[in-house]
Amino acid sequence: MTTGEKFDRVARTDRTFERRGGLWVGKCLICNGPIAFDARTGEGATLEHIRARSRGGTEDLTNLALVHGSCNHEKGRRWDPRRRRSQQDYDAFVDRLLARRLERWRDDPGPSPPSRPR
Ligand SMILES: [Zn+2]
Repeated sequence: MTTGEKFDRVARTDRTFERRGGLWVGKCLICNGPIAFDARTGEGATLEHIRARSRGGTEDLTNLALVHGSCNHEKGRRWDPRRRRSQQDYDAFVDRLLARRLERWRDDPGPSPPSRPR
């Protein structure tokens, strides 16, 4: 799977996202703010492992989300041991994001039909 295909599959299974021409437009899982990215390359968003791979997170679609680069970075900082955030706080945060991903879940409707001239 290419990066673009992976982004595409996550957007398909998140009901805040809709296709607008060559773009997917939806909401960042972390801040809920508007986010748009190129459907082919994924440019404009970053793919987030909600539960980090280093902490047992999987490549399952329910563990993947599309987020702003800045939000992804900020989440990383929250788990920086130098900031002494408690592990409990971090786990609660991850649990909230996983729950939000499931709230937004929709079954993959499959590839969009090619656009036809009217
Ligand atoms: Zn965001």
